[in-house]
Amino acid sequence: MAYLGNPKDTIEVLQKYKFNFQKKFGQNFLIDTHVLEKIIDAAGITKDDFVLEIGPGIGTMTQYLCENAREVAAVEIDNNLIPILKDTLKEYDNVEVIHEDILKVDIQELAQRKNQGRPIKVVANLPYYITTPIIMGLFESHVPIASITIMVQKEVADRMQAGPGSKDYGALSLAVQFYAKPEIVANVPPNCFMPRPNVGSAVIRLMRHETVPVDVLDEKLMFRIIRASFNQRRKTLANGLNNAPDIPLSKEQIQESITALGVPVNIRGEALTLEQFAKLSNIMHSIIK
Ligand code: SAM
Repeated sequence: MAYLGNPKDTIEVLQKYKFNFQKKFGQNFLIDTHVLEKIIDAAGITKDDFVLEIGPGIGTMTQYLCENAREVAAVEIDNNLIPILKDTLKEYDNVEVIHEDILKVDIQELAQRKNQGRPIKVVANLPYYITTPIIMGLFESHVPIASITIMVQKEVADRMQAGPGSKDYGALSLAVQFYAKPEIVANVPPNCFMPRPNVGSAVIRLMRHETVPVDVLDEKLMFRIIRASFNQRRKTLANGLNNAPDIPLSKEQIQESITALGVPVNIRGEALTLEQFAKLSNIMHSIIK
């Protein structure tokens, strides 16, 4: 079987199986070998690695992963792709295709079974409609992860990488940066996919931090504070927190906490760094206790 990462072989497979793209599954298949090589390269896959691929499609990237990794598990939701994957991956004995919704897979169990609980690498050209739940699910479930190298919408990649003061900075930036160091490694135009998406894409690598980068006493409280401060972007941090039903502090206590942080009381949430959010949540945690 030839490598699929080009329009001709992809069309051949699609026609052989009379495959119809399903919009609801975010199906945009890669047809560019340079982009595929870039992803594999950025992920730093070696023959020691177990790789989890989310949404293999017709197996284009899976073939590259099988060539480079020790073992691959590829989780695909679409029934119609399962017989195709059986065909396009028949030459590889180091891949398991799992027919399931990724949001329902017990990745902890998978990492234990396939990699003895050692950190795994995740690689994917993600279905864009569930990018955030997939990434946050991976981080929050505390599955051992070394890195996540993924194709996402360009705008989402920019948000993950943004810092304070940027228009793209928000709850997603802070959540991702709490768990990992993000780096955009390639911008990918719509003509590298079949069918072409309506948006630009980017490959981003998230290197999991070995230790959490900030001291935080109550992670859940910190993320409630972060969400509340970005819910109302044009408001001050104090107003955002005061209007949040899940922050159990009075207006005065909120103002005191912001002052104790050492910043002006009329500061906006988007000016705070992750470290400052962690400190603010520790101050508030001690008041709530
Ligand atoms: N990896 C292939 C490639 O690069 O050509 C396909 C990428 S395509 C953007 C996304 C893939 O994810 C599709 O094959 C789609 O069917 C699959 N998918 C969508 N939702 C999924 C889910 N919840 N769980 C697992 N796979 C899913």
